[in-house]
Amino acid sequence: MSQTGIDVFAKVRGHERAEILRAAQEADMLPFFRVVESPAAPVMEMEGAERVMLGSNNYLGLTGDPRVIAGAREALETYGTGLTGSRLLNGTTPLHLELEREIAAWMGTEDAIVFTTGHQANLGALGTLLGPEDTVIVDSADHASILDGCLLSKAKLRPFRHNKLDKLEKALSRAVNDPGGVLIVVDGVFSMEGDVAPLKEIADLAERYGARLMVDEAHGAGVLGARGAGASELLGVEDRVDLRMGTFSKSLASCGGFLAGSSEVIEYLRIQSRAFLFTASAVPAAVGAALAALRIVRSDEGPQLMAKVLENARHWREGLHGLGFRVIESENGIVTPVVPVLVEDDWKAGLLWKALWDAGVFVNVAIHPAVPPGGALLRTSVMATHDTATLDEALRRVGEVKAAFEAEHGALPSPL
Ligand code: PMP
Repeated sequence: MSQTGIDVFAKVRGHERAEILRAAQEADMLPFFRVVESPAAPVMEMEGAERVMLGSNNYLGLTGDPRVIAGAREALETYGTGLTGSRLLNGTTPLHLELEREIAAWMGTEDAIVFTTGHQANLGALGTLLGPEDTVIVDSADHASILDGCLLSKAKLRPFRHNKLDKLEKALSRAVNDPGGVLIVVDGVFSMEGDVAPLKEIADLAERYGARLMVDEAHGAGVLGARGAGASELLGVEDRVDLRMGTFSKSLASCGGFLAGSSEVIEYLRIQSRAFLFTASAVPAAVGAALAALRIVRSDEGPQLMAKVLENARHWREGLHGLGFRVIESENGIVTPVVPVLVEDDWKAGLLWKALWDAGVFVNVAIHPAVPPGGALLRTSVMATHDTATLDEALRRVGEVKAAFEAEHGALPSPL
């Protein structure tokens, strides 16, 4: 207890959110922290029952691929379970360097740097490249790790309404009078909404106002563009994006993150980025798995896997739409593996999630602050390894659940 009599831990008691979560857990209604008991396959074992997995970021289905497992195993057997140190000191293996070289070749950039997680990659980029004198302009739906990086940098934060170019332009015109440099940071594919940023128009605005542009490709890499390099590739703006971020925790079936850009910027991050320097380097098995998955993405098989996951996304999206759900669409019509269903009300989203869980269908729930207040949604996502029969069976169950749910709780938002 401090001399003021205030206990800093007092806030953990009687915390409203904790109380709600505890009550939901007691009623077996909690959509979070559910236990997974098998690999991330299309049908999985979760808490003692089989559930169709429609809530994974394993978009290409590579987490159980024998070649990716072999990559992890070889790395584990060659370099051991952990490196017990920073990349700067004893944490760099030939695999880390190979992975950085292959990412740069994949992204078409001069260089790349690998972080232990994607969250750290965003902290590492923003916390290092921005200072208190600078301005950072972010989309209001950007991932939390981007916001954390901005807060760490103490740069002036100017958010703009999700995907609204006029609001971005307003922020840019205001930033002209700010003292330092300006960076725009957007997700290529937004993690909850699954929609794609209008990157060409954003790059035009960045150029017009002399701002730098960074794109988080966590959900686009391995899925969009001919090489799977993400939304920047698909929309033809790779050369106009100054820095690209990605993660291994989605299509690349592992854990870790990267930044890809000019040698000048990447070299600077290698010696200055605290989120890179002051943490243990990614474990060999994670690096070996990411490298093996990246090689599959870059092989002839990559485009087939990407086509399959997007075909599944279209099928799933059309199926949900046909059942009368309001499925969020990208304004530019681009389909991604993320298929969000709008519920609006947090409580209803939890109840609907539970009914689906009981029917053997696993999806994710996003409530405030992951989405704006009143914007609760079920975040569903498909993998390349789903087959049509599994998706159709899931749609049948979802349809039954919806009918029973609406009879009891009233109508869900319908298609516009
Ligand atoms: N950016 C986005 C858009 C994400 O969705 C995520 C993870 N959900 C991250 C960054 C962080 O990546 P990681 O899981 O590798 O920390």
